[in-house]
Amino acid sequence: MASRPAHSIWGRKIVEYDLLFDCVHCGLCLEACPTYAISRAEMDSPRGRIYLMKALAEGRLDLDSDAVRHLDACLGCRGCETACPSGVHYGRLIEDTRSYIEGNYRRETPDLLRRGLISAIFPYPARLRILISPLRLIERAGLRPLLNRMMPRSIRSWLELLPPLASTQTSASISSPAPSSSAQTVVVHHGCVAQVLARSEIANAEALLARAGYRVIHLDRTICCGALDLHSGNRARALDFARANVRALAASGANAIVSTASGCSTAIAEYGMLLKDDDHELSEKARLVASRVTDLSNLLLKRLPMPRSFSCTVTYHDACHLAHGLGVRDAPRELLRSIPGLKLVEMVDADMCCGSAGSYNLTEPEMANALARRKADSTIATRADYVVLANPGCEFQIASELRRRGSNIRVMHLADFLAMAIRTSDE
Ligand code: SF4
Ligand code: SF4
Repeated sequence: MASRPAHSIWGRKIVEYDLLFDCVHCGLCLEACPTYAISRAEMDSPRGRIYLMKALAEGRLDLDSDAVRHLDACLGCRGCETACPSGVHYGRLIEDTRSYIEGNYRRETPDLLRRGLISAIFPYPARLRILISPLRLIERAGLRPLLNRMMPRSIRSWLELLPPLASTQTSASISSPAPSSSAQTVVVHHGCVAQVLARSEIANAEALLARAGYRVIHLDRTICCGALDLHSGNRARALDFARANVRALAASGANAIVSTASGCSTAIAEYGMLLKDDDHELSEKARLVASRVTDLSNLLLKRLPMPRSFSCTVTYHDACHLAHGLGVRDAPRELLRSIPGLKLVEMVDADMCCGSAGSYNLTEPEMANALARRKADSTIATRADYVVLANPGCEFQIASELRRRGSNIRVMHLADFLAMAIRTSDE
């Protein structure tokens, strides 16, 4: 077999050049790609984007608005990695390409402002809390629908994604026994946006873990995992966040690390790779922390005392990074099936992205809305009472589209759903 070149001889260092040669252009990933499913354009497919990366790396293509548009349109969902028989590391390729774009391409001012705002606010919970505090007052006064109607379309679409803010302040809805001193220890990483807008998921995840016999360890302060930055090309800050998280998580000594946001779990599970070039001590710690990441459903399965009965029909949506990043698909479904009275109905394309994808629905609203409509169609077709999922971003995205359609289907995070089923059955 001919050896592969480590770098493009034309010298543009965009991605690890030899990784591009894993793609054999078979096209088996195309139908798994959400953006290709909507546009049917080769350049909006994984194969087309890899072709663009290679042409950029070899200097055959300028980094112009056309190339950037197709690369921006990628959700980073990694559905193509699951579908690819050649083991293409698409996630790494797109993250490195985005970092190159942010360092070498001048965006139009509105796009720059939008991305700047997201980058300055979302990773910092205190800033996000301040930003949404007037909205809480507006909501309490019953004026949110009026506010939404008064806003220009671009801002309205952001506001419509926000969940009812009263629901974000909920604490755990079930009680838990005190853990034994020999219990396995778990940290629930609180994320950044999640600790402001999805607090009930975190509180219920911790309560469920305690009920399943784990001892939950709390970090003094949780900072952003860096996933938002990695996906948007701000690699330098992602590395800083990752280093701080590695130090805090390693110091906690926890046996397991989970997050209620699957993008965060996947990012932490990849710290070993991300920090492999740091100093020896930190890269060792990063590997150790990464090896302890798992999903809430894996920890609860066969350990959580289940409700006696909860009669309803549920469909399950696979969050991209949980299914395609961590490979977790069966455990959440098994947990749901183990509830007496619950009927689980599969939706079509359950593991196809809903268009949320971190901040994608804020920067690429057209494609995100098309994917939300598609997901709402498959959800409604199941006639389920609930759609359960394991990522707050998917929850906001799907709930927003179902609200728009006047649907009664409730969208719930797995942690909230399990807690509700237990509470209802205990009453
Ligand atoms: S990414 Fe994988 S599945 Fe897609 S064209 Fe390349 S080799 Fe085939
Ligand atoms: S990450 Fe998702 S949107 Fe991007 S190319 Fe792969 S399947 Fe398509």
